[in-house]
Amino acid sequence: MAKIVIDAGHGGDDPGSSGNGIIEKDLTLDISNYMYNRFKELGIPVATTRTSDITLTPTERTEKILNQFGNSSDVIVISNHINAGGGEGQSVTKLKITFKAK
Ligand SMILES: [Zn+2]
Repeated sequence: MAKIVIDAGHGGDDPGSSGNGIIEKDLTLDISNYMYNRFKELGIPVATTRTSDITLTPTERTEKILNQFGNSSDVIVISNHINAGGGEGQSVTKLKITFKAK
């Protein structure tokens, strides 16, 4: 079975983007904590890079991802980010993962 590592983008000293009173690091943490709990409920092996508002350097973040289940081909990493937009048009990121129950 695939293993999932959820990465809540930004955090701590790195707020990411912000607008309309929303800070990216807070939203990515909420989304990531929800995903983490839901995957756990489904019995899917899951880990996360952070569960609170902490600062992670790029190296620390990468090490956390690699140390959860090892660097193997059955590990899926989902890195959550919310774009601030700006300029013309819009940006949409879509990710669909389907799991089969055993
Ligand atoms: Zn971001």
